[in-house]
Parts: sequence; C-alpha cells; structure tokens
Amino acid sequence: RKRDPIVTAKNVTRSFGGINAVDVEYLEIPRNKITALIGPNGAGKTTLFNLLTGFDTPQSGEWQFDGHSLEGVAPYKVARLGMVRTFQLTKVMGKLTVMENMRLGAKDQPGESLLRALFKGLWGGREKEITAQAEVLLKKFKLDTKTDDYAASLSGGQRKLLEMARALMVRPRLVMLDEPMAGVNPALTQSLLDHIKNLKAEGMTVLFVEHDMHMVRHVADWVVVMAEGRVVAEGTPGVVMKDPAVIDAYLGAH
Ligand code: ATP
Repeated sequence: RKRDPIVTAKNVTRSFGGINAVDVEYLEIPRNKITALIGPNGAGKTTLFNLLTGFDTPQSGEWQFDGHSLEGVAPYKVARLGMVRTFQLTKVMGKLTVMENMRLGAKDQPGESLLRALFKGLWGGREKEITAQAEVLLKKFKLDTKTDDYAASLSGGQRKLLEMARALMVRPRLVMLDEPMAGVNPALTQSLLDHIKNLKAEGMTVLFVEHDMHMVRHVADWVVVMAEGRVVAEGTPGVVMKDPAVIDAYLGAH
C-alpha cells in the first residue's frame, strides 16, 4: 500500500535548548499521493519541513528524496532536485509585482533571504521560458489578471495561491505546503483544495501541514501524525482520526 516512497527519513533529530522539536525514528512519504502532516501546536511539523528542505540542520539523521541523499544540501539545490516548500506565513513580496514574485529565481533580485535561499540562480538565463511558464501558472491559478499588480494588493487567499504557483516554477515532483488553508477566506477554500488535488492528478506528490481536519479528510490519501517531535500514528484519514493515540495527542495538548 505504501511502497516506493518519494521521501524516507531515519533518526532525524533536532532539539532547541533541550526540547526535542523533532525526533523522528522513521518516516516515509508515499509517492503520487497527498499526505497530510498533522499534530498539535509545537509538535514539530514546521521544524521537520525546515530540516527536510535544508532550511535547518538536524543534530542527527539521514533522509532521501527520490534516491538523493539530502543531508547538508542547500534549499535551492533541494528545490532544483524537485522538492519545494511553501511557508506557514506566506512569503510573498508585497513590493514586487505578481510576475516579479514568480520570477524570483530568474535574476539577482533583492529579496527576503528565505526566498533567496530557495530560488537563487534557479533558472540561469532562460528569461523567455521563465516568463512563459509563469504566465501559464498564473492563468491556471486565476491570477493572470493580477500579473502587474503589486503582491501587497492581493487577498490572503490569493497570496497563498501565488506562493503555490511560484513553488511550481521549479517543476517539482514533491510539493510541501505549510498550512495552505490558514488565513484563506471561504470563497477561495474550495479552489485551493482543487489546486491541491490537481497537483496529484498532474503526477506530483503533495505533503501538507494542516490543522483543519475537514480539509484533511477531504483531500488526504494518507495522514502522518506528530506529537512532541515524534510520529505517533499514520494511516488513511478514516483510520487515523479514530485512533486513540491521535485523540490523546490532541487532547494532551489542551
Ligand atoms: P504549529 O502547528 O504551532 O505551527 P509545529 O508542529 O509546526 O507547530 P514547530 O514550529 O516545528 O511545531 O515547533 C516544534 C518545537 O520546536 C516547539 O516547541 C517550538 O517552540 C520549538 N522551536 C521551533 N523552532 C525553534 C527555534 N528556531 N528556536 C527555538 N525553538 C524552536
């Protein structure tokens, strides 16, 4: 059921001042599926994203993406290999236009260091190709009427869409979304869900962090539950959400 994982991780640990933020013995992310990473606040979900994508360094551990060992690999190289992530707090640059945001890796633009880390030098000199690809994606995400608007003028949900579209610029095989639904108004919720399902339909693997269990039930094929840095359960949504260990993990946090 869960063979041929796109990511495997072993003994990945990261602690901050004595607290084990991440202490994952073993984790597999199934290929061409939508996996939800859930768990109470502080469970280590974002830290795990940071570690897997090269934004943070673990105390120990090893992990592979599609046959590549990624320990010590810089975020933009991870992205080039086909594994890209978004951020819990949307990292869209308000003072740049929508198109400029899409083209962040295309030229040496000043930008937030996080985004430079992710997109720097990604596309060399292929200017026309980059613009054409950005246009296709903006159309798909219904942002094509906003191409030349400052990103600051977008709604919270549109920023989420822009961030997702920008991540796709690297032509990833694995898309990691950190709380894609947070701050999105109900009018855009369905559209975001559809986009996530489309990524899978187009052959990509999706891993997303989410607190909204309604969304998890509706889009996830597989659920991984973290609590206090560890993976405490995994399975299909129907099974995991009835698991006493999962219910405990959530209740224990309140
Ligand atoms: P949430 O659902 O609230 O986003 P999370 O599951 O993503 O939570 P993390 O943000 O990964 O959890 O945090 C895991 C633990 O690591 C928490 O105890 C947090 O306080 C701690 N932590 C994370 N980053 C740092 C940091 N840079 N410095 C110190 N402690 C940190």
